[in-house]
Amino acid sequence: MGIKENLLSLKNTFVNPHCLLVAVSKTHPADTILEAYELGVRDFGENKVQELEEKQAALPKDIRWHFIGHLQTNKVKYIAPFIYLIHGVDSLKLLTEINKQAEKAGRVINCLLQVYIAKEESKFGLDEKELEELVQSEAVKSLSHVKIVGLMGMATFTDNENTVREEFRNLKSIFDKLKTKKLTSNFDLREISMGMSGDYIIAQEEGSTMVRIGTAIFGEREYK
Ligand SMILES: *Cc1c(COP(=O)(O)O)cnc(C)c1O
Repeated sequence: MGIKENLLSLKNTFVNPHCLLVAVSKTHPADTILEAYELGVRDFGENKVQELEEKQAALPKDIRWHFIGHLQTNKVKYIAPFIYLIHGVDSLKLLTEINKQAEKAGRVINCLLQVYIAKEESKFGLDEKELEELVQSEAVKSLSHVKIVGLMGMATFTDNENTVREEFRNLKSIFDKLKTKKLTSNFDLREISMGMSGDYIIAQEEGSTMVRIGTAIFGEREYK
């Protein structure tokens, strides 16, 4: 099937039609992205800084670029002038650097804090205690060039739907708890980024506001 058919059947299965679809275009060429763009998609997700820079330069300027990978502090400066949302912020150090580069670029950059919800060892993110410490820290209060708009999480890669559902439910409950706290004005908690090609339906049932989907739109990726 082509991108058009894939997008249509994907949207048909959305449990929450207001959930934002972030089309994960990593490894796919600019032409492929343009095809989705022409079908109305404006939000694209990438996980490599250099690849993102090249695509951003080549493609329409009204695309909202989402950074969904693990962002290294020394690379923030390359994407700060244009990035729309950084999904995977998992340290105060990274957040502070984003703030610094955002100020240089004369912008406020939207960020999601990545929370570790999976049972696997390899996934990045803050645990609940680290999240608590970060949001309550003195240092975070003075970061006026970032806006923390929500949380992001990845479930365990498994066929066990109960595990996945439990993990997403956990992220939603962490989010709800966080919302009851008194936070500074650089917090505006409204997004939960959870759900990929294999688990977006469960994620939406559990309260996702944005899903990051690649394979179900563009097909399998080929890594070179
Ligand atoms: C690649 C990637 C996705 C998309 O995965 P698919 O299974 O292709 O939908 C979503 N989120 C992150 C963080 C990714 O790296």
